[in-house]
Amino acid sequence: MIDRILRRAAERFGTPLYVYDLAELRERVADLRSALLPSAGLFYSLKANPHPSVAAELRQAGCRAEVSSPGELSAALEAGYRPRDVLYTGPGKSPAEIEEALARNVVWFSCESAAELRRLGRAVAGSGGTAEVLLRLQPPTVSKAGLSMGDGRQFGFTPDDAARACAVLPRGIALRGCHVYLGSQFPDVTALLDGFATAKNTIEQVSRTAGITPRAVDLGGGFPWPYATAGAGPALTGLRAGLETLLSDWATGPAPEVSFESGRRLVASAGHLVTTVRDVKERPEGTVVVLDAGINVLGGMSGLGRVLRPATGFLPLRTGDPLPEDGDPFPAGDPEPVTADVVGPLCTPLDRLAVRTSLPAPREGDLLCVPNVGAYGLSASLTRFLSRPAVVEAVYDGERFIGAWRSVTTSVAVG
Ligand SMILES: *Cc1c(COP(=O)(O)O)cnc(C)c1O
Repeated sequence: MIDRILRRAAERFGTPLYVYDLAELRERVADLRSALLPSAGLFYSLKANPHPSVAAELRQAGCRAEVSSPGELSAALEAGYRPRDVLYTGPGKSPAEIEEALARNVVWFSCESAAELRRLGRAVAGSGGTAEVLLRLQPPTVSKAGLSMGDGRQFGFTPDDAARACAVLPRGIALRGCHVYLGSQFPDVTALLDGFATAKNTIEQVSRTAGITPRAVDLGGGFPWPYATAGAGPALTGLRAGLETLLSDWATGPAPEVSFESGRRLVASAGHLVTTVRDVKERPEGTVVVLDAGINVLGGMSGLGRVLRPATGFLPLRTGDPLPEDGDPFPAGDPEPVTADVVGPLCTPLDRLAVRTSLPAPREGDLLCVPNVGAYGLSASLTRFLSRPAVVEAVYDGERFIGAWRSVTTSVAVG
């Protein structure tokens, strides 16, 4: 079914093209909610995909918004999130962006350092309002799950820093609780539960040292889903039961209000990239397939700060061919698969989407589809590199396309 929609969209809007399926979004958010405690809050991390229709659909499904830049804040507010449902996160928030967030009535901030608390305090004093703060805590370098959290060392307060900061909170700042984010793509429920236990322990230890009672805690996320290749994330069976046990008892006092965050688990599968084969070169070393989509439109980083691992998976979208069965990349009627390097249209040898991958023998003009790119597909790509036209993003809602967008980047004189 999705196959026919993607072909139709490619005819109408051209390629390269992102298609987002809102019905799939609704399924994913219902699935994740059913794996969490019914009382838990769920933040949508706009970093994964700030498209207005995507963000608005998740708001309607009951998500709050986790933003970490003025652009993401604007996207969330335009998508209809109430300012009090927005959590502003991220290191190095500038005085100007804090002032802008306060002026737009944001009250929740995840704070990263004593210096940032002072900046927030000055901005709050100037605005005459108050800010409610979650202290972002640095997780231990190695969690119980044995996963290295080395990547997270730049974030948040150490326990000692947090205790010192709590002793001298600036006026106008209400300490609401703590925020711990351990990382992305935990492989399964066991690893997720270990991660949340680590986050909870960290919060309990810091609360004891600092003498605080958190009323709200954000335990992060890391809910897994494949990236740019076919398949589905592991089922979250047992997560809810595990969380019920883990969160039934808090050393900090009365149970705080708990929330979680997710980007990829909510939006990855709703996004498909449709691309056209521009050239097929037979070389002694192997076949090279040149597409009209490169690292300018597909995850220049493979998710969170990592360079693209060239492992993109391609499904054929041939007019007239039988539609592929779910999960079968090479349905009957397709030519024998070939092994090829798949590259984009950018004039740089870095523009490679897949190295020695298997795909049905492609011909010039064929349409291919990359599944699971609704998260960090476009938002993590090198959109200005080589100045190619911006990709179109089309939104499909069960029966029809509700719109198509092309984001424009221009240089505006500021001095
Ligand atoms: C990026 C990020 C997320 C989202 O991560 P996913 O892997 O997309 O779920 C959540 N919280 C914070 C603080 C982040 O930086």
